[in-house]
Amino acid sequence: MSKKTRVRFAPSPTGPLHIGGVRTALYNYLFARKHGGTFILRIEDTDRSRFVEGAEEYIMEALEWCGIEVDEGVREGGDYGPYRQSERKNAYVQYAEQLIDSDKAYIAFDTTEELDNTRKEYEAKGNTFMYNARTRDRLRNSLTLPEYEVSRLIDEKVPYVVRFKMPANDDIPTEDIIRGNMMVNSGTLDDKILIKADGMPTYHLANIVDDHLMEISHVIRGEEWLPSLPLHVMMYEAFGWEAPSFAHLPLLLKPTGKGKLSKRDGDKLGFPVFPLHWPYGEQARGYREDGYFPEAFVNMLALLGWNPGTEKEIFSMDELIEEFSIERVGKSGARFDPEKAKWFNHQYMQMQDPADLAKDYLKLVKAKGYDIAPGEAEKLVSMVRERVSFVSELWEQTDFFFEAPGDYNEKAVKKKWKDNSAVLMKELMEVLKGIDPFTSAETEKVVKEWIQEKEYGMGAVMNAFRLLVVGALRGPHLFDIVEVLGKEETLERIERGIDELGGGEG
Ligand code: GLU
Repeated sequence: MSKKTRVRFAPSPTGPLHIGGVRTALYNYLFARKHGGTFILRIEDTDRSRFVEGAEEYIMEALEWCGIEVDEGVREGGDYGPYRQSERKNAYVQYAEQLIDSDKAYIAFDTTEELDNTRKEYEAKGNTFMYNARTRDRLRNSLTLPEYEVSRLIDEKVPYVVRFKMPANDDIPTEDIIRGNMMVNSGTLDDKILIKADGMPTYHLANIVDDHLMEISHVIRGEEWLPSLPLHVMMYEAFGWEAPSFAHLPLLLKPTGKGKLSKRDGDKLGFPVFPLHWPYGEQARGYREDGYFPEAFVNMLALLGWNPGTEKEIFSMDELIEEFSIERVGKSGARFDPEKAKWFNHQYMQMQDPADLAKDYLKLVKAKGYDIAPGEAEKLVSMVRERVSFVSELWEQTDFFFEAPGDYNEKAVKKKWKDNSAVLMKELMEVLKGIDPFTSAETEKVVKEWIQEKEYGMGAVMNAFRLLVVGALRGPHLFDIVEVLGKEETLERIERGIDELGGGEG
């Protein structure tokens, strides 16, 4: 019988969650959903020195915003809880003792100072020091000290750590779904600490114990954990537990493709590397607050490291679940492209429900001190949405509907307002006056016929016309604009413009 699919996202609450972490969560989630499995959120908070207030809530809010639904976790509960490692402390100590009893781990009393000195002695001879099979019998631990001495030190509360007893010379075969099989010799590894002097487990112990107790079937995590894989494989063996399958995800790279994507890259180039705004201490911007649609953000992240094997780029969450496969995750790092992120948002902008967009747009309009009917807002949005990637850009594309030009773009005037422009515009006013109904289609038809009949230049008329109505050479289809403004307002703007710009610059 094949095991039930159970995967976990196991972040440490040490600050805002990097988008690389969100991607790890997403891939775990897609994998779980695809295989009818369970997605678990486990908070790995055993390193109290790195704990940051607010980070756990941030993680949950970020997943929620992305539409990544947690099946078992701190908030959701579940049969394998608690889901916060700091609440599972007792279990870890017990498992460490189990390893000590079976001679797979031992107690070490070496102080930091002693270890530093030993390290220096090694370095002085041009060697590197590793706490392992080659050195452990010369150090202060339960393998070298007599039993009564070990008991005495423990009774006297001398601080100690528990270390894993890495075999001297074993070939450790590892398997990774993305990277294939590898072989590492245990002689190159050290005796990792499992329980720290403060009694807390290290990542390695807590992670393995929990993955086992929570019956995790697949460990899908960042590439930075690949070097720990041989140790983890050895630990499963030491416990006599069946190891889960492993998949290590490629790094997210800087836009240059060189090195890991960092907050500094985002600050320098002006894009967020976190899903949400981080409000504490050193603040950081987030995709949500920058105006990204969560669907666009998720879509972009999904394709950073995974490819569907087709040209298709737009995927809903359901489509991602349908098409995702861990085998199609690449080995090499995925270059982050901020322009592509915007491109995705632009695509999703076009797919939004017009009524929803209009609602957000109305908020911008009201903030500027204006008000219009929802239907009107929807109409304006539909005219300009294809020109923008963010809701926040909708105002600057439609401001001229609310505010007649106060001045005229200088460059445009220089280029497009000619000697004969005033005369042309006066004649245009007469043409416009006779148009009824004053719709976009009708106005376009009549004005264009007039231009052709008089053999005027299309550009000469249309540029000057736009300049007077909008104040610059921007905005959507001009005849759509004048339909919204209405005949009276259009004529007023042209008249005022002729007064302002006069006979032109020659
Ligand atoms: N707490 C680890 C991290 O934040 C989890 C790594 C893993 O998934 O095993 O990276």
